[in-house]
Amino acid sequence: NAPVVSNFIRNIIDEDLASGKHASIVTRFPPEPNGYLHVGHAKSICLNFGLADDYQGKCNLRMDDTNPEKESDEYVQSIKDSVSWLGFKWDGEVRYASDYFQPLYDYAVELIKAGKAFVCDLNAEEMRAYRGSLTEPGKNSPYRDRSIEENLDLFTRMKNGEFPDGSKTLRLKIDMSSGNVNMRDPVIYRIRRAHHHRTGDTWCIYPMYDYTHCISDAIEGITHSLCTLEFEDHRPLYDWVLDNISIGCHPRQYEFSRLELLYALTSKRKLQALVNDGLVTGWDDPRMPTIAGMRRRGFSPAGIRLFAQRIGVSRGENIIDMSVLEGAVRETLEAEAPRVMAVLDPIKVTLTNFEEGVTASRAAPFHPHHPEFGEREVPISREIYIERDDFAEVPPPKWQRLTAGGEVRLRYSYVIKCDEVIKDATGRVVELKCSIDHDTLGQNPVGRKVKGVIHWLSCEHAIEAQVRLYDRLFTEPRPDAVRGEDGEYVDFRQFLNPHSLATVTACVEDVVLKAEPETRYQFERLGYFVTDRYEHQPGVKAVFNRTVGLKDSWAK
Ligand code: ATP
Ligand code: MG
Ligand code: MG
Repeated sequence: NAPVVSNFIRNIIDEDLASGKHASIVTRFPPEPNGYLHVGHAKSICLNFGLADDYQGKCNLRMDDTNPEKESDEYVQSIKDSVSWLGFKWDGEVRYASDYFQPLYDYAVELIKAGKAFVCDLNAEEMRAYRGSLTEPGKNSPYRDRSIEENLDLFTRMKNGEFPDGSKTLRLKIDMSSGNVNMRDPVIYRIRRAHHHRTGDTWCIYPMYDYTHCISDAIEGITHSLCTLEFEDHRPLYDWVLDNISIGCHPRQYEFSRLELLYALTSKRKLQALVNDGLVTGWDDPRMPTIAGMRRRGFSPAGIRLFAQRIGVSRGENIIDMSVLEGAVRETLEAEAPRVMAVLDPIKVTLTNFEEGVTASRAAPFHPHHPEFGEREVPISREIYIERDDFAEVPPPKWQRLTAGGEVRLRYSYVIKCDEVIKDATGRVVELKCSIDHDTLGQNPVGRKVKGVIHWLSCEHAIEAQVRLYDRLFTEPRPDAVRGEDGEYVDFRQFLNPHSLATVTACVEDVVLKAEPETRYQFERLGYFVTDRYEHQPGVKAVFNRTVGLKDSWAK
């Protein structure tokens, strides 16, 4: 386990516990079920659930479901799956903001009775005009001085469905001249006849996010309500609502910066556009920065948690290179993944002095430092495959692989020498004729040094596998932040990497065919690969996704 790294939120919690303000902490992760979670949410999950674990507190999972049109049970399920898969447990049952529709309504009535909320008939456009701007104060709504009785009556009738959608809102009566636009009599209820994924058609009025969020936190007894920095300007409203209703709990909101991952997008809406346009195969396409996508790509929960720890939590910019995520994943897979050999782009090699029809084999460990992973037999026969990249007729400087007339060691096996290069009419190498040095099994050749070691497979023993080689989805580090000559943002879909997926038929050791879906391997010298969660069929069909390459081991 990596050491705990402190941050400003931990410092606040330490103080609150030391001063006796709280005996223990309660946090929450409050996604809106309007899409699949992405790597930015993973940061928030690791923060909220991680704090609860470290401080022996609790963390709730709450669906922030107050926008019925965009929300669905599919998304709820995917959110639960993602949180569990990352290795976290929420306290008790999943919570839903929609569970609180009745108390939210009752508090609104309380605010009306206290003269602190009113029913407003301005439409959206008028409301905008009355709202003012950053530099200009707003104007009071002409409906602001309705009597309490009239407001109570109208609000009840809004709830009862007497008015058309959008014709009235309930607004707080705060301050239209506030420097903070969020405090200018914000709308807390709107009329919308939309079917809700949980409450069905029970309600035709729905509470707004700012109003719902603070009350939901208070109902659940949240101690530290952590959100991203764009909510900083909403904090006065969060506090105002809780200060003006009779609720016995006032959680404190603290903001931290959003994660932005280069060469990826961290916005559900934009990821949704990729899915809708068919530019990826779905939310869980292995190229997607969603948790479901990263899972399918083969990233490990431990790797993502390590990443979250490394990027830290602060109020400063959090723009992170993909290599940090890949590095953390690679580090966790190094010790976890058994190693086998695969050849992605084979050339046939005939071992001319190896007897035909004979198989020799040698046991090889699945991991050099983990004998408990066991071992398997690696067979050799007269015809083998090596990687096309591991042969160069005219080798570049420092070449340590096979070359015409040169020698190389086959991993776990003999040293071979290339005697003849066979090409087709186009000059492409189609076969190599090599001889093995029979005295080099498990020992160095006599009188010379052979430094290079390459991976290989016996043709008749290897199986075929479909291997999907993924690269970054975008060619631009910040695909949604590029502006054209007109100063407008360029559509991020223009920066999709046309080479983000290459599918090859590779050869792999036959042991992998039995593997369950989502089994991670290191293919020696190539990288980490995972059997596909859906398409790999144990015993029938091997389908792999490349998770991440190995750090390049030879000089570029
Ligand atoms: P999106 O714009 O992708 O829909 P969101 O903030 O609207 O993101 P929510 O479902 O409301 O998505 O997010 C749930 C929690 O995850 C919130 O507390 C939010 O602050 C946090 N979160 C979302 N995106 C990020 C990010 N990029 N980095 C860190 N935390 C994030
Ligand atoms: Mg949100
Ligand atoms: Mg959003």
